[in-house]
Parts: sequence; structure tokens; C-alpha cells
Amino acid sequence: MTNILWFRKNLRIHDNPALLKASESSERLICVFIYDEIIHYDQHGVQSLGPYRAKFLWDSLAELKKSLQALGNDLIILRGDAAEVLEELVAQSHAKSVIAPHECGYCEQLQETAVKKFCNLEIVGGATLLDINELPSEPASLPNSFILFRRIIENNWDEQSWAIKDCVDSPKKLPPKPENLSLDTMAIDPIDDSRRASDKAVMTFNGGENAALARIQSYLWTGNNVENHKETRNQLLGSDYSSKLSPWLANGCLSPRHVYHEIRRFEKERVQNESTHWLICQLLWRDYYHFASYKHGADMFLGGGMRGQGCSKKKISIDESELIQKWCHGKTGQTFVDANMTELLETGYMSNRGRQSVSLYLIRELGLDWRLGASWFERYLIDFEPCNNYGNWNFQAGIGHDIKKCNGFKITEEARKHDPEGRYQDYWLGSSS
Ligand SMILES: Cc1cc2nc3c(=O)[nH]c(=O)nc-3n(C[C@H](O)[C@H](O)[C@H](O)COP(=O)(O)OP(=O)(O)OC[C@H]3O[C@@H](n4cnc5c(N)ncnc54)[C@H](O)[C@@H]3O)c2cc1C
Repeated sequence: MTNILWFRKNLRIHDNPALLKASESSERLICVFIYDEIIHYDQHGVQSLGPYRAKFLWDSLAELKKSLQALGNDLIILRGDAAEVLEELVAQSHAKSVIAPHECGYCEQLQETAVKKFCNLEIVGGATLLDINELPSEPASLPNSFILFRRIIENNWDEQSWAIKDCVDSPKKLPPKPENLSLDTMAIDPIDDSRRASDKAVMTFNGGENAALARIQSYLWTGNNVENHKETRNQLLGSDYSSKLSPWLANGCLSPRHVYHEIRRFEKERVQNESTHWLICQLLWRDYYHFASYKHGADMFLGGGMRGQGCSKKKISIDESELIQKWCHGKTGQTFVDANMTELLETGYMSNRGRQSVSLYLIRELGLDWRLGASWFERYLIDFEPCNNYGNWNFQAGIGHDIKKCNGFKITEEARKHDPEGRYQDYWLGSSS
């Protein structure tokens, strides 16, 4: 029996329930990744898949291909509408099922609905730490606020049905591909301006699970950095003020469950403190935005956000005004904003503190539509992930469910508080700042 394993944001071998299931239930297996329009499209005048994320994704796919070949299979990389491509593949191979991980994003949900129309789609595993099928309630009845969500989840956590399960084993061998498949797998990165970050980046982000697992090793075990995560997380310079796991988590090169179990092991073998707990809380924020996205669907991307507030239907575009152009290119004249936006442009990464400051500046001080900032982030962030990006922008814009306390926000105060000696601004803009 032939099955199709549709890789989505699970570009790894370790702790990959969909891969394990496909390996155990198939005689012949087709492993496929599809560059669908939901990955690369035009939004508010910008192309969504920018240079650094494109490179990271392509390198992750190249590594996954090698790993699958070593296990006796291969990865076929195709381009087009995912449902149409899969329909053709099913017809050509007479596959019994398409096996794929769950995804919470709105467009990803639409993909699933379209695929279910012509084949048996088996959803196995997902991108979140908590299993969406084991939550304390249906996602639609989960509390809207993160604080309440976290309180429910963390209450006697280990005793509950939503306690984190062990990671699943990696398959030792995979069934072969069917013979006589006529498919042209893509051999080169489809994005023209795909490129590596500047050498000034906080660290090198190489795509693929090997680099992800190496980063856990160095951040947790070699550097012991998780011990101080809560105190260092608002810093701006260097590789170790935060975990930097986001690009690998966003592409599924790293399993959040693996990260969770490594933190728990660190707590047992080294230290358990507020910082180790804090890092787990960050993973819960990540889950919260995934489930909120599942619950609120398209609203999260609309001007009124997940609260569904009314908003103007006026077309917005990044080309429209000088203000947005200056923000995007780090030319506002506010050196703290400009340094962060320059880091983003040159590397694809920006600290959490930076993201909070530049987004509030765009919304509060420039009075611009938050969606312009969100789509610029979508293009440039190497760790862009729709639920996290749009969820955080909703929060910053005050249209999420948790109240953002930022009355009297002033960018000059942010700079004074977080970069008092101007070292970060100097690093990115030169000593003239
Ligand atoms: C406006 C804005 C846009 C953002 N867009 C994204 C995005 O597209 N993709 C993304 O992964 N994160 C996004 N974030 C959240 C956060 O800034 C990054 O996850 C974090 O900076 C990544 O660095 P790290 O891996 O070192 O984080 P750490 O502090 O080490 O946290 C560990 C992991 O927890 C998760 N996490 C941490 N903070 C958050 C948060 N606020 N929301 C959701 N998950 C979180 C991430 O997966 C992260 O890798 C955004 C934040 C803001 C304010």
C-alpha cells in the first residue's frame, strides 16, 4: 500500500509522529514538500518569503532530503497549490492516504479542508507543545486571555491528560518510493534573492535539525544559559541572552516537545529556577497564539484583529507613505528603532525587546496600520510563523485579548532603559548615533 507523507512545518526526523506513522503503515511512501502560495505571495506590496527565511527553508529541505535518503526514501520538492499538487500525486500513485501534521494557521486549515475533499487525510502530530486533541477543552472554548490559559494548563500539569508525552522514536528505516513516478523535484531554491545574513548577526542560523539540536546543546548544556534566561531575555547583543531557537521551531526543524524535555532534564540535572520555568512559559505563549489562531481564523489577520473589532476597508500598502518606508529601512531618525530595523534587514533576526519597541513605535508614535509592520516582519524575520507573528502584532496593537500596558510609550525611554550606553545602537549604526 502506498501513502504520501506531506511535510509541512515538521522538517525533521526526531520526534516526528507523522513520519513514524507513515513509516509503520506504508509499503511504499512518497515524501513531499510543496512551495504553496501560502508560503510565498504578495501582501500589502511586499513579497512574503524574504531572503533569509527562503535560504533557511531551502537549507532545511536539503538536509531533510539527505536524511530521508539515508533512511531509504527521498524528499520530492514541488511548487504549486498544495491541494492540486497532492490531488495529482494521489491520482498518479493510487495512494491510500495523505499523512500530515496538524497546523493551526487559518490558511493551513483551508489547505486541509481542500485536501480532505479528494482523499483520506490522516492528521498525525502537530507543531505545538500541547496536543490540540488533549486540551482541557475544545480550542473554541479555551480562555481568550493568555494569563487564564496558562493558569489552567499549569495547574497540576503532570497529572492532566494534556501533560506532555514523551518524544516518539525516529524510524530506523523507511519504505521505498513507488517505482515509475514521473515527478520533477525542484533542484534549486525558487527564491531569487535568497541569501545568508551579515556576519554581524547575533549568531549563524543554519537551516535543518542538526543545527537546531546543536543549538540546544550549546545554549542549555555547554553554556548553562537557561539558568539566567529571565534576567537576560531583554538584552540586545550576542547569541546567548535568549535561546534563539525560534527559526528552527518555526520551520519544525525542532520539536517543541524535545525542547521541553531538555529543559526538564536540565532542571533535574543542574538547576530549576524562575528562568527555566520562564523558558517553558515562552513555549506556552507560542502554543497560545497557535490555538488562538485556530479559534479566531481569518480575524487575526484583519485590521480589527482577534477581537473582531471593526476596521477600515481601505487598501493599505507599504509603498504608500514615506513614514512606512523610513520605518522599514531603519531611517526614522530614532536611532533605537533604526538600529533594530537595520539588524532585521541585514540578518533576518531581531530580539524580542526590539520587536516590541519597533512595533509599538509604528503603532503609537507613527500612527500606522499594524498590518504593514506585520507583513514587513513576515518578509524579513527568519523565524516568521503566522500564528506567532500576527498574534504578537494583535497584542502590540491592543486588539488581542490580553491588555497591553503601554500608556505613555516613548521610544526614547525604551532606548534609555534597554540600551543606556548606546552600545547596541553603535553596533548597528556606527558611532555617529
Ligand atoms: C511584533 C512581534 C512579532 C513576533 N513575530 C514572531 C514570529 O513571527 N515568530 C516567532 O517565533 N516569534 C515571534 N515573536 C515572538 C518573539 O519575539 C520571538 O519568538 C523570540 O524573540 C525568538 O527568540 P528566541 O528563540 O531567542 O526566544 P526565547 O525567549 O528563547 O523563547 C523560546 C521560544 O519561545 C517562543 N516564544 C518566545 N516568546 C514568544 C512570544 N512572545 N510569542 C510566541 N512565541 C514566543 C519562540 O518559539 C522562542 O523560540 C514576535 C514578537 C513580537 C513582539
